[in-house]
Amino acid sequence: MKILKFGGTSVGSAARIKALLDIVDPNERQIVVLSAVSGTTNALVEIGQAYINDKKDEAKQLIAVLQSKYEDLIKELFDTEEGLKKGKELIDYHFNILSGLANYLFTPTEEKLILAQGELLSTTLWHFHLEEIGIPSVLLPALDFMKIDEDNEPVVSYITEKLTPLLEENPTNKLFITQGFICRNSFGEIDNLRRGGSDFTASLIGAGLKAEEVQIWTDIDGMHNNDPRVVTNTSPIANLSFDEAAELAYFGAKILHPQSVFPAQKYNVPVRLLNTMAPSARGTLISKDGGQKGVIRAIAAKDGITAIHINSSRMLLAYGFLRKVFEIFERYKTPIDMITTSEVAVSLSIDDTSNLLEIIKEVELFGKVGVDEGQTIICVVGDFGANTHGYAARVLDAVKHLPVRMISYGGSDYNVSILLDSKHKVEALRSLHNRLF
Ligand code: ADP
Ligand code: ASP
Ligand code: MG
Repeated sequence: MKILKFGGTSVGSAARIKALLDIVDPNERQIVVLSAVSGTTNALVEIGQAYINDKKDEAKQLIAVLQSKYEDLIKELFDTEEGLKKGKELIDYHFNILSGLANYLFTPTEEKLILAQGELLSTTLWHFHLEEIGIPSVLLPALDFMKIDEDNEPVVSYITEKLTPLLEENPTNKLFITQGFICRNSFGEIDNLRRGGSDFTASLIGAGLKAEEVQIWTDIDGMHNNDPRVVTNTSPIANLSFDEAAELAYFGAKILHPQSVFPAQKYNVPVRLLNTMAPSARGTLISKDGGQKGVIRAIAAKDGITAIHINSSRMLLAYGFLRKVFEIFERYKTPIDMITTSEVAVSLSIDDTSNLLEIIKEVELFGKVGVDEGQTIICVVGDFGANTHGYAARVLDAVKHLPVRMISYGGSDYNVSILLDSKHKVEALRSLHNRLF
């Protein structure tokens, strides 16, 4: 069984939704994961923000604008009166949920309910369209099998346990459709896998069902060797190992959700990145053996990083110091991305600053603390194993004209990371690209 995921642009209009059948063969048993129509989740975020700020009129206006987009979309999507009627009822149902929230106390739970409407809409619209043109499909509610635990970690065994019988109930059906991004949390409430989470959904289903392959269909021909939004002459990479792809996704290659490689890697399910707009392009195959020795493969950048510098003479010749520091971050469930140390100081970087003030207050008990916001991690992925030489020097040489805040080398065999102020990101990416490729 294959899992095919289509991103927002790939379902971005009625024409694109209809064109899914150019790629999806309805006679092959598969699960198709859909994102929300492009722009929808951003609009839903704005609606949620308006409610949070108690700007109900603004929320109402934003809802009306989004609703009219969907009304235009169904006019193009459905050809029969019956199809159009079903589409209209569907839209009314979901938009009534959005406007009805004006009457309730607004909490993060309601916000997540809002964010879930995009994927619920896109999947049902396609299901209705297929019904209209006589192609059987089964809509599988992601909320029945996709779950995160109290640490917000998805539970693969739960997916296997819940999804397998849903598929067995439909032995003759071939085409299954489900929502990306949305899930339930440990309280059973509607939640999500963070922005871009539909990739994660596809990989988790692939892992849960030990699928033959996961295909991520998007608007570009695979993983490029640098960020195509910033650097002009980037090129797609035909093969990547899971480790290489995981580093690139985690450190900012937007084509993949940061965590989406891990489930596929754990269950050894190959992931193919493909272009909906150019289906015959080769794309990128991410697999166990996709790595390449002795070369630098790609560069990615992750913005919104905060660097924390702790200077403490108590660290000198002491043991247990780093543990005490890390315990603070652990207690506030704040992952650390980069770390560098000297005898009396440690620098580390985080991207989740929701508990930054509390963390700093506690870290200050150890010594002098400095905080730099607005930083970017540039991650160069390649073969940096212990036997290689010269690559790190080439990386540093490419950014020698820029002030570098941190350097991390030797932590993994696949990456060298540097931290610098975000205002130097574009120059760093371009310079590295010109020097390394
Ligand atoms: P989708 O909506 O299909 O999930 P995304 O916008 O999330 O699509 O991801 C695809 C986009 O990722 C591309 O259009 C491209 O601009 C961006 N991107 C950033 N870095 C890379 C990279 N290294 N390789 C390919 N695409 C990248
Ligand atoms: N619709 C969600 C988002 O925009 C999930 C996704 O597209 O992957 O973040
Ligand atoms: Mg995406």
